[in-house]
Amino acid sequence: MTAQGDPLLDEVVRFHGHLCPGLAIGFRAAKFALERLGARRSGDEELIAIVENDSCSVDAVQCLCGCTFGKGNLFFKDYGKQVFTLALRPSGQAVRVALKRKDRRGEPPGADRPARTRWLLEAPAEALFDARETTISMPGEAAIRDSVVCSRCGEEAMATRIKKKGAARLCIPCALESK
Ligand SMILES: [Zn+2]
Ligand SMILES: [Zn+2]
Repeated sequence: MTAQGDPLLDEVVRFHGHLCPGLAIGFRAAKFALERLGARRSGDEELIAIVENDSCSVDAVQCLCGCTFGKGNLFFKDYGKQVFTLALRPSGQAVRVALKRKDRRGEPPGADRPARTRWLLEAPAEALFDARETTISMPGEAAIRDSVVCSRCGEEAMATRIKKKGAARLCIPCALESK
């Protein structure tokens, strides 16, 4: 058990490898968004997450929401923002959770890392985040695609990633190398 005594937090920490302020933000954001959406962890693809950063916080979202890169229900936008949108398929019913500005979330100044983490775990969700319900147009479901054998290296690659060069069918690294 952690100091916070939350088994879900323990699971997230085990997944990520350590407890840090970023993980705390993701943990609180994911829990808050799931609550607001009335959703549970995704067994398959009915729940999707759109994350606007690729920092520690996203590991908490993956672990808690069951939205992962491999399952194709995690979408990364490289905006560098602590903003997380959870949505349900097929309706597109969604909630967007954004970490408030530091000066607006009342975070005690000058706190060290462990104190910051503790504060982020304990502050009311409404103090930490701006959340709003929204509807999004759904990204397509993860498709199962045919594989093609690369003419140069002999390895298989998804058909949609194969480049044609004359009669050859090349995977991306081979196409780049044979320019
Ligand atoms: Zn971390
Ligand atoms: Zn190849």
